[in-house]
Amino acid sequence: VNNGLIVSFGEMLIDFVPTVSGVSLAEAPGFLNAPGGAPANVAIAVARLGGKAAFVGKLGDDEFGHMLAGILKQNGVSGQGILFDQGARTALAFVTLRADGEREFMFYRNPSADMLLTPDELNLELIRSANVFHYGSISLIVEPCRSAHLRAMEVAKEAGALLSYDPNLRLPLWPSAEAARTQIMSIWDKAEVIKVSDNELEFLTGSDKIDDESALSLWHDNLKLLLVTLGEKGCRYYTKNFRGTVDGFHVKSVDTTGAGDSFVGALLCKIVADRSVLEEEAKLKEVLKFANACGAITTTKKGAIPALPTEPEVLTLVKG
Ligand code: ADP
Repeated sequence: VNNGLIVSFGEMLIDFVPTVSGVSLAEAPGFLNAPGGAPANVAIAVARLGGKAAFVGKLGDDEFGHMLAGILKQNGVSGQGILFDQGARTALAFVTLRADGEREFMFYRNPSADMLLTPDELNLELIRSANVFHYGSISLIVEPCRSAHLRAMEVAKEAGALLSYDPNLRLPLWPSAEAARTQIMSIWDKAEVIKVSDNELEFLTGSDKIDDESALSLWHDNLKLLLVTLGEKGCRYYTKNFRGTVDGFHVKSVDTTGAGDSFVGALLCKIVADRSVLEEEAKLKEVLKFANACGAITTTKKGAIPALPTEPEVLTLVKG
């Protein structure tokens, strides 16, 4: 189906990032606001590439929530699945890459509006119209948004959507590493397309090896495509019939935030346009080259959403 709808489910929030890099949050002289949230980034990535996208999630009925809804709209993402919570406020995160190379996070989730999404208030009509239903976020961590997440997946599946999952592990938000692994694996065998980063592969398998054996230990019968992203090295792909690597692009990276979401958005755009990319290796490799280029460009600018490319920009890099 050409130009089918990609529905992305989960959270949208604002990251506050120090105005100077390499400092701890306490030392930051000030902060810039960087709208994000992996599922929202994916929806915008799709729309920027010319695809049809909708975001399903809950925001606070506050200044930040309306700002975020405005960003989705300006970028051409359907807002039919956005809800505003009358009580709780929009989720906020303070994120810094310290001088010692460690990422430091602080979250406002007290609870935040996204956590309060209930199954009853989902726009089921919108979810049923999805050609691809993408999820993978912090909405799996707590109730009631966990139940909303599970219900949305079920409804999309029943309606015939392809399910796409990116676990987007954010360990500091989980009560424990064990809880994260258990919950992520509890929905593992539902998705037909799964993208993990090399670090997530290590975490989920509990092995420090990133090889075919460890990737394939995560294989399940419903899966059509498993991707392991390797940062600047590109990605490794696995299907029932073939596997391989597609090299990444050399670019001047300044901020890798959103690279994975950009990669997923590009991949889903291509899958929606032609499902046979999941079965034909030559086509899949072309698509992954495009997705790698999309991810690479996203690292060349600060922030996630401002760095997501348009199709002509991606094609320029692909064609060299
Ligand atoms: P995640 O953001 O999920 O951790 P990665 O960092 O592996 O995922 O990035 C996703 C994709 O973006 C990679 O597969 C690659 O194609 C591209 N990418 C990421 N970082 C770079 C980089 N430094 N240079 C070039 N491409 C990159």
